[in-house]
Amino acid sequence: MDRIGPIKIIEGPNNSSKVPFSRSLYIDCTEKVLIDSGADPESLLKLNKEFGIELIMNTHYHPDHTTHNYLFPEATKLINPIEYETAQSIDGVARANGVYQEWGPRGVEVWKKNLPARWVKSLGLLSGTYDYDKEYNFGGVKVQFLHSPGHTSGLSCPYFPELGVVFAGDYDMTSFGPWYNGTDGDIDDFIRSGKRLLELDADTYITGHQKGVFTKKDFAKAMEVYLAIIDKRDEKVEHYVRQGLTFDELTSIGIFYPKRTLENGILKTWERTGIRKHLDRLGLTVPEADRVYLNTK
Ligand SMILES: [Zn+2]
Repeated sequence: MDRIGPIKIIEGPNNSSKVPFSRSLYIDCTEKVLIDSGADPESLLKLNKEFGIELIMNTHYHPDHTTHNYLFPEATKLINPIEYETAQSIDGVARANGVYQEWGPRGVEVWKKNLPARWVKSLGLLSGTYDYDKEYNFGGVKVQFLHSPGHTSGLSCPYFPELGVVFAGDYDMTSFGPWYNGTDGDIDDFIRSGKRLLELDADTYITGHQKGVFTKKDFAKAMEVYLAIIDKRDEKVEHYVRQGLTFDELTSIGIFYPKRTLENGILKTWERTGIRKHLDRLGLTVPEADRVYLNTK
């Protein structure tokens, strides 16, 4: 387990924090605070046994960051104030994931049947919210949960001003690129939030997935490459629209996800929601058979 001062870094299984897992942080202090619960469940249980977990602060509601909340029934579990309500109902989560927008009520029913029970349970255990930007002091460790919309509308990035450390969460510098594919995601917000993270007085950035710990210089360099993926997606979408493709054709090519994964399921949903955002951004429209649920997200 890596640590930076009082912050322990807990990885996913096999030292990999790839989806469906993520990196968690633990503040080694009197309040025994865990930030996100997507790390390896064995490591988290061990941590609880040795040090205790009394408070879980979730940066956002996505399963790879909340899924092990249920392992700690005694702990208080809080989330950001924008997403508390969304996380209270599976319908709310279905809407935020674009399932309703793309497939309507029948699609939501199918999606619900395939949800992992532990995630649903974990969301149900959230008992309240923390405040954005407020300076919390956990046993002398100061931390602010900075509102960083774009990935989702409510995502917070925990910032430790005295340690010069930022938990950048899903501003994760992965080769996949920025993810803003829920109906609660926004490309322009994503770019703004990513740039704002660089303006913080910090030397160390910790991402929720893949590499992990970056110096400021490396994070800034990685951010440039990462945000440029948005422009590449724009270019691809525009190129295919000019060729006269329909929405169904455009969303079967594999702009975000590999083509072979687009048969059905949630990746197909996110391919569609993501491409809609680029079409909007580019001011382009394509022929589409059925748009009946679009304005009712
Ligand atoms: Zn996420």
